[in-house]
Amino acid sequence: MLKTPADPVDVGLLSAQGSRFTCHYPVPELPRLVAGLAGQAGQVEAQFSFHEVQGFPALEGALAAQVEVICQRCLEVFLLPMAAELKLAFVGSEEDEAEVPADFEAVVLQDLRLSLRDLVEDELLLSFPLVPMHAVGSSACRPAVKVLSEEEVAMLPEDPVVESPKANPFAGLKNMLKRED
Ligand SMILES: [Zn+2]
Repeated sequence: MLKTPADPVDVGLLSAQGSRFTCHYPVPELPRLVAGLAGQAGQVEAQFSFHEVQGFPALEGALAAQVEVICQRCLEVFLLPMAAELKLAFVGSEEDEAEVPADFEAVVLQDLRLSLRDLVEDELLLSFPLVPMHAVGSSACRPAVKVLSEEEVAMLPEDPVVESPKANPFAGLKNMLKRED
């Protein structure tokens, strides 16, 4: 197996070699991602496969991650599984973008140097859900009691007043009278 190259990598060289490798990134190594998380548990696995397309260096990749988030339904912290696919072609200038096959995303990279870690972090940030929640039907997800704001309370229909049955203040007296009978 090829040794994982250090960041930033030379995408021209890796593509010419047809390099394939897997990188693991502990979540704490991705500070921009961590900023939006509930904790630092979890990790990211990234599979990279370099080749050439239409003479351009290209990268196809698959990311699989588990990150700690707060479920917005039950407010419990859980490990959210995430996945993202990459299909990139690297061009030296914007003029070359038109020559990249349509199913590849053209990325302008003048010196062909790329930080794979930054790329992984960018992709995960892009695919991060706006409202993270447990999977639908998850048995771990029990809706939390919702705390209402003042406006929401004002909009509630008025509750019927439930009178608690009050103790008859004379009940004791009545019993006393009975005993005297
Ligand atoms: Zn939940």
